[in-house]
Amino acid sequence: MTNKELNLLVAKWQKRLGLDSWKIEVNIEDLTPHTFALNLTSFSVGASCNTRWEYMIANLKFDEERIKTATVKEITLDVVHELLHIVINEMRNYDDDKLHEERVVTMLTSAFLRKL
Ligand SMILES: [Zn+2]
Repeated sequence: MTNKELNLLVAKWQKRLGLDSWKIEVNIEDLTPHTFALNLTSFSVGASCNTRWEYMIANLKFDEERIKTATVKEITLDVVHELLHIVINEMRNYDDDKLHEERVVTMLTSAFLRKL
């Protein structure tokens, strides 16, 4: 997928998820040095989302190698997943970890992409 195609995909799902009024920046960079430790396993990150929900701004980062090599379906899943973090993020308790947010976002991504 090209960078332009990624931006069009983000715009399509931004509108579909009702995030039209948000300012969402999309960056493509090498994310391979970043891994998250989650309990006993760690995994590489294909995309990430930083949100300042109180200002309705967010920054999405996508791994440049994954954007070049992953299927459209896989990248769509990443896009929807990261955009749903924007929807859910303000529910996060910052004194707690983010596992509940991660689980809800993963479940909603699956629900949105399920064929009817
Ligand atoms: Zn996530």
